[in-house]
Amino acid sequence: MSKPESTYDVIVVGAGPAGYVAAIRAAQLGLKTACVDHWTNINGDPSLGGTYINAGCVSSMALLESAKIYDLMRHGLADHGISVENIKLDLPKMIDRKNEKIARLSRQILNVFAEKKINYYHGQGKLLNADQVSVTPADGAKPIKLNAPNIILATGSTSIDLPCAPIDNEFIVDTTYALNMTSIPKRLGIIGSGVIGLELAGIWNRLGSEVILLEAQESFLPNVDHQIAAEAYKIYSNQGLDLRLGARVTSAKKNNNKVVVDYQNPEGSHTLRLDKLIVATGRKPNSENIAAPEAELLLDENGYIHVDENCCTTVPGVYAIGDLTLLGPMLAHKGLEEGVFVAEHIANQHNPINYNIMPSVIYTDPEIAWVGQTEQALQAIGQKYRTGTFTLKSNGRAESIDKTEGLVKIITHAETDLILGIHIIGANASELIAEAVLAMEFSASGEDLARTIHAHPTISEVLHEAALAIENRSLHLP
Ligand code: NAD
Repeated sequence: MSKPESTYDVIVVGAGPAGYVAAIRAAQLGLKTACVDHWTNINGDPSLGGTYINAGCVSSMALLESAKIYDLMRHGLADHGISVENIKLDLPKMIDRKNEKIARLSRQILNVFAEKKINYYHGQGKLLNADQVSVTPADGAKPIKLNAPNIILATGSTSIDLPCAPIDNEFIVDTTYALNMTSIPKRLGIIGSGVIGLELAGIWNRLGSEVILLEAQESFLPNVDHQIAAEAYKIYSNQGLDLRLGARVTSAKKNNNKVVVDYQNPEGSHTLRLDKLIVATGRKPNSENIAAPEAELLLDENGYIHVDENCCTTVPGVYAIGDLTLLGPMLAHKGLEEGVFVAEHIANQHNPINYNIMPSVIYTDPEIAWVGQTEQALQAIGQKYRTGTFTLKSNGRAESIDKTEGLVKIITHAETDLILGIHIIGANASELIAEAVLAMEFSASGEDLARTIHAHPTISEVLHEAALAIENRSLHLP
């Protein structure tokens, strides 16, 4: 790092999806921009993109894709009239492929930074006061100070430790290590059947591990629409995942090259012997040491930074976005939108985010995706509604490509027919949800969707059919 001490219009601390997008949008708007990020890859080089690229979604999707191919080769080709022999798995090669994807995407961000003349600093950023950030370079050089009237904090989040299951990254591993294991554990335990636990379970199950998920809560995916969660439970169990609900882990220890896990459920205390244990029990904001005490940045007791509806912190000119705040869920696209919003706000453009129409996706196979309200949330507020559902097994395209698991449900206002929520479990759910988001963004009714022409045969027709089903006029339901 050889940049001189410097003055900018905007300094962004953190180059995950929230931070790097904020920097790019600020530069597009003509603001002189710097971005500070300390992520370093195994070669000691900087790697932009935050958890999303380096240790989250991209890694998880790259490995899931490999695992699906492996699984298909082993179990799914006979029906196609194809036989293969001597299928071998080279896990280190699979991990290398994943790492190449990370490197490519990270380099792409650096290239955009270079093209937009965004100065990138590889090091640890810290807010010193309302218009100053210190950077401690990753190469051990002397810290420097950068100045700007606008500072955006976007340092993301990190895994929450579970004191009863201390991470050693050998037997008890965190969610980053879980994407870099170079041998397949025979018996793999995962604490937490939340989003991350399920995504990891699907990968390792397909690669050959026996996977046991220990989930403290009695209900499965409680924030997901209950009908979709029940369908997911059924599908994942059929795939071989051993989902144990109401199972609170009380202790995990290494013993004779195994992990011994104690957990309690309503039936009593139980012990498991596993080859590896992944801890996936939630994430917390990366706000420790983000600001000097003199900066007077206000955080809550869980480390979330206080912000108003414009992502403004308690320090004038300092913003916080992404996983650092409780404004909206911990989702990459939420952070990304906030990056754009804050950069535009600094440039005196005000384009607020509609947090009510925020898609959520669980990248399992099949995927789960939803937007808007669940049935249980509407029942809780006494809102009258109608629903239309359609199953993938009644969709011609899904049948022809063996993707018949799952369903889609549309919920509309009982009187106005306005779409209140769309919930999907099934192939391509993460792509299908885009149509749902667009429909809701433009205040579409169920009838609008029912009258929208969908190409035939496509999986997107499940949305059309579910909309038709609201009035009992679905065309392909038996
Ligand atoms: P989560 O909160 O979704 O799930 C953690 C689970 O661990 C909970 O269900 C909790 O009950 C359980 N748990 C906690 N302590 C336990 C114990 N002692 N024994 C058994 N179970 C226990 O957290 P996550 O899956 O780690 O994800 C963290 C955040 O990251 C979430 O906000 C998630 O939305 C986000 N994320 C999103 C995506 C995506 O959009 N696809 C991907 C990764 C992460």
